[in-house]
Amino acid sequence: MKGDPRTRAFSTRAIHAGQPPDPSTGSVAVPIYQTSTYVYEELGKHKGYEYARVQNPTRAALESNLATLEDGLAGHAFASGMSAISTLMTLLEAGEHTVCSRDVYGGTFRFFHQVLERYDLSFSWVDSTRLDAVAEAMTDRTRLVYIETPTNPMMEITDIAGVAEIAHSRGAILAVDNTFMSPYFQRPLELGADVVIHSTTKFLNGHSDSIGGALISKRVDHADWFAFVQKSVGAILSPFDSFLVLRGIKTLAVRMEQHESSGRRLAEFLVTHPKVETVLYPGLIDHPGYEIQRRQATGFGALISFDLGSYQAAKTLLDAVEVMSLAESLGGVETLISHPASMTHASVPAARRADLGIGEGLVRISVGLEDADDLMADLEHGLARI
Ligand SMILES: *Cc1c(COP(=O)(O)O)cnc(C)c1O
Repeated sequence: MKGDPRTRAFSTRAIHAGQPPDPSTGSVAVPIYQTSTYVYEELGKHKGYEYARVQNPTRAALESNLATLEDGLAGHAFASGMSAISTLMTLLEAGEHTVCSRDVYGGTFRFFHQVLERYDLSFSWVDSTRLDAVAEAMTDRTRLVYIETPTNPMMEITDIAGVAEIAHSRGAILAVDNTFMSPYFQRPLELGADVVIHSTTKFLNGHSDSIGGALISKRVDHADWFAFVQKSVGAILSPFDSFLVLRGIKTLAVRMEQHESSGRRLAEFLVTHPKVETVLYPGLIDHPGYEIQRRQATGFGALISFDLGSYQAAKTLLDAVEVMSLAESLGGVETLISHPASMTHASVPAARRADLGIGEGLVRISVGLEDADDLMADLEHGLARI
């Protein structure tokens, strides 16, 4: 396309931002610049690229695309969601404190608790759906508030603008892991957050064939620091993975629409099923976060958790499904079904899991893009075995 894609609507930006036709050939797809280094034209003069840990044109295209989709100043892409999160955490200095959603991704909890606490960083784990709990946990040493919304796997909704106000009033910044919603449904920077985190492994890439992560920032000092840490630590996204994620993002809008419409159908079906005790899906009107979600996002996503009451019931369903695949992860074209207590959240101590409500009967589905009737039939068949 001609002109600045940033002036266009979401799906146009998703396809064009950061990726004008290749200047040397006109190639519509961004080439995979599979190189480690770049030749200088003469001593002291290069084309802006010196060494591929620092700059790579394929990665730069993705970073620019992500910055545009999240309405940020800059994007930085990493080898995984966890390496993006670890880069974010280098903003903190020893002795500083973070207020964190109690129900974050299991790997994030493990990293904060088992790695970062060794470096004299401290964490308060709060129910961030309660703004008063967030405000109460803030101390003079609090530098960061870190949230996920919706959370995994309990689908709790946090008021992003409300938390941003609390963080800023105490001189802290707000980082939001936006992996579950993607920028198609939710843009935290517009709601007051300072940094957005993605595991591009999930909806952004969308095809379960790449591990990656990103930080999108809106402050120059943060963007400069993330570039500096990217260069200094080197946990960069490869050119090939950058290409895959760029390719995935081109269909993000249509994928998210379909993920959600099938997700809503399955959630509504599960609510009526006698073997299902509770259904956690923010698109259900009686979900406690429904109103906030409607206000701060344009959709409800495709992650559904539901409780079957016992390990045995969950196992029966998980072993009986045929179309759905029993696997960790989410956000891909295939529907994945999992048992958080023994899979994604196995590293969370049992007592803490019980506190969070992650029981032995809890099942989580990431609704994919297979035919929705096939998915319904698969669940019906599996639930009938219980
Ligand atoms: C998967 C995930 C991560 C970690 O990302 P990786 O790409 O697996 O390192 C972080 N946050 C959320 C919400 C996730 O789902």
